[in-house]
Amino acid sequence: MIDICIVGGGAAGMTAAIYAKEANPALHICIIEKKNQLGKKILASGNGKCNLSNLACARVTETLDFFRRLGVITRADSEGRLYPYTEESRAVQEALKHRLHQLDIEIRTSAEVLEIEKKEHFILHLKTGQLHAKKVLIACGGKAGPQFGTTGDGYRWAKAFGHKVEKPIPVLTAVDIKEDMTRLAGIRAKAAVSLTYHNEEIFRERGEIQFTKTGISGICVFNLSRFLLIPEGRSFLDGFDDYRIFIDFFPEIEAAELTKLLRQRQELGFREESILEYLVRGPVADMIYASAKGDPSDSATLLKAFPLSPKGAKGWDFAQATKGGVSLDEVNPETMESRKIKDLYFAGEILDFDGPCGGYNLQNAWETGTIAGKEMAR
Ligand SMILES: Cc1cc2nc3c(=O)[nH]c(=O)nc-3n(C[C@H](O)[C@H](O)[C@H](O)COP(=O)(O)OP(=O)(O)OC[C@H]3O[C@@H](n4cnc5c(N)ncnc54)[C@H](O)[C@@H]3O)c2cc1C
Repeated sequence: MIDICIVGGGAAGMTAAIYAKEANPALHICIIEKKNQLGKKILASGNGKCNLSNLACARVTETLDFFRRLGVITRADSEGRLYPYTEESRAVQEALKHRLHQLDIEIRTSAEVLEIEKKEHFILHLKTGQLHAKKVLIACGGKAGPQFGTTGDGYRWAKAFGHKVEKPIPVLTAVDIKEDMTRLAGIRAKAAVSLTYHNEEIFRERGEIQFTKTGISGICVFNLSRFLLIPEGRSFLDGFDDYRIFIDFFPEIEAAELTKLLRQRQELGFREESILEYLVRGPVADMIYASAKGDPSDSATLLKAFPLSPKGAKGWDFAQATKGGVSLDEVNPETMESRKIKDLYFAGEILDFDGPCGGYNLQNAWETGTIAGKEMAR
């Protein structure tokens, strides 16, 4: 009989195993991981650099202490995003694996849990047979990035145990746009992007926007995607009609001031069609000229709020996180134990939590893994 069985060898699962074994070395702990190695998603995170937390997170100190103990030195960039010193995600994955081996934690890779049931204790069904465990941690992630093993298996088990699962939605992705974007493809602009729902602004962020053949991308667009939700009863086809996206190409300059500057260019003798030349990239200038015909006031209005109609966010294969998941109401945040099933725990992205880009999602995984690990060892 295994004392603690951890389903999912990602960020939360590995952290939980380390904390549990450190607290009680006598425990038999086993991690079951579907993929052929632990922490595949960690390797891909932060564009291979692993943005593991953020200085703005309330419990960042605990995370940094943990990684220092594991031999990982970190540093923050100007936005407070924390990375391993070499900016190589492998530094994080290897340090976790090293500590797991040192603590003699059993690891089964290429092993997929198919079902979990509870009688007097838990029975985990794998393709290769059954495992029996006193306590189980479900840390198998959400549905984002199925290529890293996360295919939403845990939601089915949670529901079978009577847990409410908030609808999982792919977030932190690029956004597809209804308008023809081909002429803008490849352009990058330091701008601000905003989202309105029924004409009310619900999101605004500055950053670098990348225009693609089908839409827009970039960190600020990823963060916007967390607010682009299909209302109940609507489909992907008509679900986003109530949303509009606006790009502000001059976030530092008010519209009236911009109009004045464009008038000044007019007075300097710029022709109508070249009034925007070298102020914004050529294809953007062309698109604005097509509507505003060089009128300084109309041009300024479009430069401050260039409208786009969202068609939808890119799907699970491109998403970095899952919005929705196991409802937090039914999991004790002090222990991560289910309020419905004794000795069943949840940690990481399986839970109904999603944060913006910047290290918040991995922080959630370390944090909830830490709490669950310490608690399960009691
Ligand atoms: C491309 C990409 C880049 C990202 N970059 C960042 C970043 O820089 N900073 C940040 O904070 N967040 C980032 N994220 C999000 C972050 O990686 C996740 O939120 C975090 O890894 C979640 O941790 P987790 O342990 O809950 O799940 P995961 O790390 O996803 O691990 C879950 C594990 O469970 C395994 N599993 C699933 N089902 C089963 C099963 N049935 N049986 C056995 N094992 C199973 C999976 O194979 C997987 O290894 C990124 C995500 C992606 C996809």
